Amino acid sequence: MVIAIYPGTFDPVTNGHVDIANRASRIFDTLYVAVYDLSAKTLLFDTTERVAFFTKAAEHLPNVKVMPYAGLTVDLAHRLGAAVIVRGLRAGADFEYEFEMALMTKHLAPEIEYVSFMSSLEYQFLSSTLLKEVARLKGNVESLVPAHVARALREKLQT
Ligand code: ADP
Repeated sequence: MVIAIYPGTFDPVTNGHVDIANRASRIFDTLYVAVYDLSAKTLLFDTTERVAFFTKAAEHLPNVKVMPYAGLTVDLAHRLGAAVIVRGLRAGADFEYEFEMALMTKHLAPEIEYVSFMSSLEYQFLSSTLLKEVARLKGNVESLVPAHVARALREKLQT
């Protein structure tokens, strides 16, 4: 039984994140999507909203559970009995940071594997940050996020 966690800010969840959860859920027995409670980033959605969005986006995946967390990801992995930390890797944008995180994870918890899934081609250039910028400027983001997230973005950003 291999348990994995997929940590992130998910502000908000995009189709790129769902694609990673979908693919990881086929490999691991249980996948915990772990939503950072206290992110260093400036957030548009609070933790409850971000957890609810991902929960709905992953409702078709029975072995995926979504939860908030604070503190070190390796501590959460130990609490949940997870052997693997899953991350997504977009061409160029993520490599340096993810490499650093992988090495720091190894330093803190050598028994945990840090596994990066290559982003699918159609989501290579999709980030929550750019998505929010486009949504703020009233651009169409319908095909980039689940329908309930597109709705929430419209409601949150309407002025
Ligand atoms: P962070 O956790 O660094 O705050 P995010 O919450 O945006 O960043 O993303 C969580 C994880 O999902 C990270 O590993 C990130 O690289 C990955 N990710 C983000 N966007 C995509 C995408 N479009 N395709 C694949 N992976 C992605």
